[in-house]
Amino acid sequence: MHSPCSMRPAHGGKCTLILEFGGLCAPAGKHGAMSYGWLIRRSALAIDSGWACLPAGHGNSSCLAEYLGLIEGLQAVIQLREPGERLTVRSDARLVIKQVAGVWLGVSPGLWRGYRQARELVRRLFPVTFVLVAHEHNAAADALARAAYHDVLEAERRSRAGEVRLERLGDTRYRANGKYDLDSATGACTCPDYLNLCRRFHARCKHLFALEGHTLDE
Ligand SMILES: [Zn+2]
Repeated sequence: MHSPCSMRPAHGGKCTLILEFGGLCAPAGKHGAMSYGWLIRRSALAIDSGWACLPAGHGNSSCLAEYLGLIEGLQAVIQLREPGERLTVRSDARLVIKQVAGVWLGVSPGLWRGYRQARELVRRLFPVTFVLVAHEHNAAADALARAAYHDVLEAERRSRAGEVRLERLGDTRYRANGKYDLDSATGACTCPDYLNLCRRFHARCKHLFALEGHTLDE
């Protein structure tokens, strides 16, 4: 049985906490709904995590979502960190990592509040090491952000499934509201909401929810 800090780094220093974070804004990157995720590891073991999805709004952006994930993660680190424990913050959020690490000095007005709040938390947690990682190495935090987004997306579409009229075209194929074609075999729809947004998050549009209810009734 390892104690929480039994895996010490080779240089003989204290145990290290790792905070990973990610965020996204969709559709189209600006003013969409924002979601973020973060997790904290100690000796490679995930010990805490969080995620959230916020409604679409003016000023929303993927960078702001990433800042919100970083801030909430840093607040959790303050609760969890043992005396003398080091902190490394890892993400593929290039702009946020570079700004908070002080490498990039310009901060746009829309990110200023997030930047100030993150910097204040970093100051309290000093010293903090920032590491920019490739997208594929940020998979755990990204998955949390995507799952948060997926759940909100589907909850909204499910609530609107009652608006949909379905007609059967044959076999597994249906038409929704006289306009969009669905296939219960592939789980795909031709509506813009599915093609432009839902598909990206493996989520169902309102037509697909209506189809599910319809096929269950048959
Ligand atoms: Zn659809």
